[in-house]
Amino acid sequence: MIQPISDAVAELTQKHGGLLWGEHGKGLRSQYVPDYFGELYPALQELKSAFDPYNQLNPGKIATPHTLPDARLTRVDEVALRGELDRTIDERVWLHYDAAVHCNGNGACYNFDPDDAMCPSWKGTRNRIHSPKGRASLIREWLRLQGQQGVDVLVSQGARPLAATVISFARRAANTVAHKMGQKDFSHEVYEAMAGCLACKSCAGQCPVKVNVPDFRSRFLELYHSRYLRPLKDYLIGSLEYTIPYLARVPHLYNGIIGSGMVRAFLRRVAGMVDSPLLSLLNFDDVCRRWKVRVASPALLEGLDEAQRKRSVILVLDAFTRYFETPLLADWIELISRLGFEVYIAPFAAMASRCRFRAF
Ligand code: SF4
Repeated sequence: MIQPISDAVAELTQKHGGLLWGEHGKGLRSQYVPDYFGELYPALQELKSAFDPYNQLNPGKIATPHTLPDARLTRVDEVALRGELDRTIDERVWLHYDAAVHCNGNGACYNFDPDDAMCPSWKGTRNRIHSPKGRASLIREWLRLQGQQGVDVLVSQGARPLAATVISFARRAANTVAHKMGQKDFSHEVYEAMAGCLACKSCAGQCPVKVNVPDFRSRFLELYHSRYLRPLKDYLIGSLEYTIPYLARVPHLYNGIIGSGMVRAFLRRVAGMVDSPLLSLLNFDDVCRRWKVRVASPALLEGLDEAQRKRSVILVLDAFTRYFETPLLADWIELISRLGFEVYIAPFAAMASRCRFRAF
């Protein structure tokens, strides 16, 4: 159908003096270029001949060079279109990865406004694989290839007995070594794109079709790390939320170790981590005492009347703000208290957010 439909659209557009192409170039509709450009088409061919006389750059698209009279433009029905490829993805998988497969390529994520939250990794790199659209495209292709290879991406790894864990470790270690030695797997390209995602979730909120990269990123990483070993930094960052309340009891010792040149060099070279934050030395208990902040227990909250509830705020702490950015918390508590609200703190519990992002 694509050929007769394209022919009819091209004819209608030309009849009304329009152009078939928008900002996306003439890629797969190149066969219509000679009709549209008419007597100017040879000039296009001259340009092509000057810069690409052997027709090596995107052959078959936009124009053929004079230098190769047998070269021809690709017809629209000669290549597989994205929809045809996407339709080969199993429907169950499609539903499970809907946050990626529903990307319609509108490109709202190619946003250059520094004051807009949309995709900091795209703004920082200007590389399309580091945009929500790029990541969604890579995941769709990866899902298609997994299906082609008979891999069921919906099988969860779950908890395993010790023997299976040992075997799995050995297998993952062997795969990782093979990868280091140059063995190809498209999963590594997808991994590279996912590794640059900050999991800020701006895409989930601002994309018109709600492409949610952190959602499918963690599913992908779960499967990827069932085949390949995790990097050391995943374990360091993932465990920090649990260990930091204990480490914070000796902040000077922790800061002395983490801030030392030797440890920083080790983290940078071995774990790929730079600028590891130091613990704040501000005494949070003093802040709480000063502004009469209390722990929000069920009994205490139940005892509040309606008017008191309306003037109460419960602060839920995450480990990183609590221990590394304590002055920010202190300022917030002071502001809210001066506005006339009572501040309560929810008992601290690790939220495992870093573990979720890394699909532990
Ligand atoms: S979650 Fe990742 S892909 Fe989505 S906007 Fe943030 S950095 Fe970009």
